[in-house]
Amino acid sequence: MNKFWVGTNWKMTKTIAEGSFYTKELKKIAEKLSNIELFIIPSHTSLVSIKELTENSKIHIGAQNMHWESEGAYTGEISPTMLHEIGMNIVELGHSERRQYYNETDESINKKVIAALKYGMKPLVCIGENSTQKKNNISKETLAAQLIVCLKGLTAEQVKHVMIAYEPVWAIGEDGTPADAAYVEEIHGFLREKLKDLFDSKGNDIPILYGGSVNKENFLEYSKLQDVNGLFIGRAAWDIESFRVILHTLNSQVYR
Ligand code: PEP
Repeated sequence: MNKFWVGTNWKMTKTIAEGSFYTKELKKIAEKLSNIELFIIPSHTSLVSIKELTENSKIHIGAQNMHWESEGAYTGEISPTMLHEIGMNIVELGHSERRQYYNETDESINKKVIAALKYGMKPLVCIGENSTQKKNNISKETLAAQLIVCLKGLTAEQVKHVMIAYEPVWAIGEDGTPADAAYVEEIHGFLREKLKDLFDSKGNDIPILYGGSVNKENFLEYSKLQDVNGLFIGRAAWDIESFRVILHTLNSQVYR
């Protein structure tokens, strides 16, 4: 795989003004990147202005969630039609916070994946085991089940537009513990094999990103691991200067 993906989910941070400042700086950084596919996932209120700001740049923009129906009586939701209308390239689906606080299930994520593909957007499907599942030694079983259900019904042709983010729940956020590189490599290898079981050789074309307390100290090590095709970064990318360091270093080091 010759693309290395690097992106950040802003979660519920940044006003439109803060997001615009960040994005203007990121555009300058992006001009100098040759080896990286860069994306940002702002909150819904910033999507239109950030899409406009990044016109004619190489930055992909994504939304943090969406409903699977094109329209309907779903107060508070946003539809694939709406995201398509404003030119979204990516939709993040199934982040662990959505699963934990908003009852997202693998089944609902599957419906969203299918809807995203129908509207020409790349689903970024987040999977990850929690600390209890890891303690009980069922990480791989959990991840395999998540992949099987979230990607159910997809053809090999469709699946080449999907990206996976492996984010162990115990590694995410302020209370998270960064994962050992050896563990990340083992799991990414397992996910690659599972994707090949499910989609034959097309399983090789699906980028698997790693996320969970990626920071200035560990990003380089993770980036060099077999079957890590990108990094999905939260807090360490919200400050543009911190993200600048990560992106410049990766751009000069990643040869895939
Ligand atoms: C995330 O929540 O997807 C994430 C990767 O966050 P952080 O990098 O802050 O752990």
